[in-house]
Amino acid sequence: MTVGDLLNMPGWQVMVVEEHEDRYVIHARPVSCDPVCPQCGSSAAAKHGKDHQCLRDLTCHAKHVFIEFSRQRFRCLICKKTWFEPLSGVDERRFATLRLVRYIQQQSLTRTFAAIALECGLDEKSIRNLFHDYVEELERSVQIATPVIMGMDELHLLGQMRGVITDVQGRSFVEVLPDRKKQTIVRYLAALPNKEQVQVCVIDMWRPYLDAIQETLPHVTVVIDKFHVIKKLNEIVEMVRKDIRSSLSERQVRQLMHDRFLLLKRPRDLSERDRLVLEGWLGTFPRLKAAYSLKEEFYEIYDAPAEEEAFDRFFAWEDRVMASCVYDAYLDFLLTIEHWGDQIFAYFRHRYTGGFVEAANGIGRVIDRQGRGYSFDVLRARLLYGQRMRQRKERTRKRAVPDDLRAPISVDEHLPDVVLSTLTSPLQSSWEHAQNTTSSG
Ligand SMILES: [Zn+2]
Repeated sequence: MTVGDLLNMPGWQVMVVEEHEDRYVIHARPVSCDPVCPQCGSSAAAKHGKDHQCLRDLTCHAKHVFIEFSRQRFRCLICKKTWFEPLSGVDERRFATLRLVRYIQQQSLTRTFAAIALECGLDEKSIRNLFHDYVEELERSVQIATPVIMGMDELHLLGQMRGVITDVQGRSFVEVLPDRKKQTIVRYLAALPNKEQVQVCVIDMWRPYLDAIQETLPHVTVVIDKFHVIKKLNEIVEMVRKDIRSSLSERQVRQLMHDRFLLLKRPRDLSERDRLVLEGWLGTFPRLKAAYSLKEEFYEIYDAPAEEEAFDRFFAWEDRVMASCVYDAYLDFLLTIEHWGDQIFAYFRHRYTGGFVEAANGIGRVIDRQGRGYSFDVLRARLLYGQRMRQRKERTRKRAVPDDLRAPISVDEHLPDVVLSTLTSPLQSSWEHAQNTTSSG
């Protein structure tokens, strides 16, 4: 084939390109410059033999690429030191071009090591090593700022619940902790730089989070994430639905199973057909209707313009619960509100939600699935830095889109479709709808 500048690498000159079925071998030579001794700086040097060397480069036309060349060795006439001529664009320790190393490192944050190894023709261990070096570099160079509005949530990784610290406004991960025990959170918060700048902390109803914040950041207002409150309501409706199942025929059970998402959706999101189906169910089962209506009415509390109005709406709602036929099903929820009331109603003074972690959970799940055989540290780095990469890519792609129209989190094209479905589950979309209608910032 004709050569051209297939290499496109300054400091190199291509001589011959051999094309094989699975690879290109590019015979090239480094563009030479006058030798200077690296030890004494003298330019009095003599040639001192050559070495045949080979580098790996990025794949080209889906073939692996090798660069073969003869490398000149020199010997200093003054101090006798010997050295090889310098190479540009090359990671000498790894016998690879710098651009290949960078490509692998960036890919390693979002793809499996096995897939990259296959693509680049290296073994998995090399990919893993490159990944670890990259993470070390990122830990040193990337400053993750202490958020003003901090989120605390959980993520299920490698069979365990992990504490997740987020930047609610920046919609990004700040830290992924090995667990969510109080002492782990306390240790993390105590060591946090500029912790006085944290103003609000949005958490789920996990007691150790509250205790740890009150102990280490007493100036911070704690807000319970609205999504977690609504989730509990959906669980109540689901519980009542399951209760009803026992009184149904097999065919009806299948149908109700099929229609269960209608109960989670907001009425305005239902199609005409869905609405009729739902009305059918609610008309047949008064307990289901009561549970469903109370859930929907609770949204109106969150729609209140101010805290006082929210309280009024809540107490009226509580009275309706007491008088309803599903009082028993709502009992735990009422106790939860009693227990967490201060933090739940703090929402009306600080309208923030941690909703983005729910979406990020989809990505977490994929990372978890891909992560069999990976350590917690690998998954943590992927969540912390992989998401940043995705967001950066997304930002360049979607610069023209106003911030509030942007998806809560960008979905990398490497993530399989399952993520898309977890990101847009009915629960999620009903939540997003709720978020859109009650401002959250
Ligand atoms: Zn010298």
